[in-house]
Amino acid sequence: MTMSHNLRELISAERIAARVAELGAQIRADHPDQTITVVAVLKGSFLFLADLVRAIPGDVRIEFLGVASYHGGTSSSGAVQITQDLRGSIEGHSVVLVEDIVDTGLTMDYLLRTLAVRGPRSVRIASLLDKPSNREIDVPVDYVGFTIPDEFVVGYGLDLGELYRNLPYVAVYVP
Ligand code: 5GP
Repeated sequence: MTMSHNLRELISAERIAARVAELGAQIRADHPDQTITVVAVLKGSFLFLADLVRAIPGDVRIEFLGVASYHGGTSSSGAVQITQDLRGSIEGHSVVLVEDIVDTGLTMDYLLRTLAVRGPRSVRIASLLDKPSNREIDVPVDYVGFTIPDEFVVGYGLDLGELYRNLPYVAVYVP
């Protein structure tokens, strides 16, 4: 059984749902009449993706990008590796890159540079969580769900050693 006494709820499922609805409306308002290509960064963004795309009215395409940056621990290795690339071209597309959390910014900076050379019409970033206090590289996060303090969080897609992704809320992991 999961050691739930190590978890302190930070953002409830209700607050997440309300904020995701706002973000979806905002993303559509910023891309009127366009098909939006949502590029989800695996695995951590899968629940955010599922809720966010249902909150964006109109035409949406979904692509997946596999990235490994944290190798199962609670601090960044700094290295970014693409483990699964996009299936389709994004040339001329209005792209929204969907991430679970921006911490040092190294992952997003790398992905932005990688996608920019493929000729998209635009690339905007949506992140469920933002930990600005730990930033090493400035990245433009256009849509932020919640800004959080520098604590290690799990739940709603985010893991610790592959556990806790299924929690419907975001919690601070207390070692
Ligand atoms: P960055 O490259 O911005 O430092 O880190 C981005 C990635 O690190 C995220 O996509 C996520 O996988 C991982 N990460 C950063 N902070 C946390 C955290 O508090 N909890 C979890 N579970 N992963 C995190």
